[in-house]
Amino acid sequence: MTTAPTRETVWSVLRTVPDPEIPVLSLVDLGVIREVAVEAGVAKVGITPTYSGCPATAVIKSDVRAALELAGLTASVYDVLSPPWTTAWITPEGCEKLRQYGIAPPQPATEVPACPLCGSHYTELLSEFGSTPCKSMHRCCACLEPFDRFKCI
Ligand SMILES: [Zn+2]
Repeated sequence: MTTAPTRETVWSVLRTVPDPEIPVLSLVDLGVIREVAVEAGVAKVGITPTYSGCPATAVIKSDVRAALELAGLTASVYDVLSPPWTTAWITPEGCEKLRQYGIAPPQPATEVPACPLCGSHYTELLSEFGSTPCKSMHRCCACLEPFDRFKCI
């Protein structure tokens, strides 16, 4: 008889599931995993979608289910719609991974983003929409490097 999964088992599997849009971030880093429970051997995972209409949400749910099943767990994945996800839920480790990946972490829109490469605040907005609707596109005026920034919500 196999041992019943624990919440810690489920969390450790979830930490290995990458965000489909930013693979350097795990879903745990992204802060979308809201609830984890194990009931009668079934791993129950509540996920809050990121930006509404972000096509990644469906991918995230099927990735979570697949990762848990691969680990031998029966999974039940459901939406937690309230409170809505905010970029403030991205963990400090997640923000650091974003910076290393070349994406400016979210911050209040009134603040000029710092270039993730050289750290200069002398940057300009190129477009409200970057590689995905969740990000805006900027360019550093110091090193001329373009970069994406996570929109703060
Ligand atoms: Zn720069």
